[in-house]
Amino acid sequence: MKNLKLYLDMDGTLVDFISQVNKYGFWRKDKQNKVDWNKVIARGPEFWNEMDWMPGAETAFEKMQKMAADGLLELYILSSIDFDEGREGKKMWIKSHTDFPLEKVIFCLEPEYKAQWADADSWLVDDRKKSLEPFKSAGGNVIEFTGNWKDVLQQIKELCRK
Ligand SMILES: [Mg+2]
Repeated sequence: MKNLKLYLDMDGTLVDFISQVNKYGFWRKDKQNKVDWNKVIARGPEFWNEMDWMPGAETAFEKMQKMAADGLLELYILSSIDFDEGREGKKMWIKSHTDFPLEKVIFCLEPEYKAQWADADSWLVDDRKKSLEPFKSAGGNVIEFTGNWKDVLQQIKELCRK
């Protein structure tokens, strides 16, 4: 496939957001399974910078960067975040964990806004239906990340062969 553009989600796909929230106990007391964003924001950009890779993501990311360097695909990080501390923290994480160029990192305010980058040559790897469904409706292609980077990488390799 020519002009294959691959967009990678961050939280829950490349980085282990949930473990980081668990580590600090930044869950709301009044609602189940809701992140206490005030506490996350108060912790500052470092909260994001400290995150671990999702299992298998580091190796997969290196391979995808190699595929991009070989001209097989264009690689982007596409992350939704609606406050400055988060954007700064995510940039810090990318700078300290990868050599990925920041000009290929795209931030949008809401998960559904990722659909702005959808077209017939675009693929989104993401763990949330909130991002995937609008992307698909807008004419993009999706790979739902369910925890297995080996499997995702295999699918991407097959796309490059077409
Ligand atoms: Mg996600």
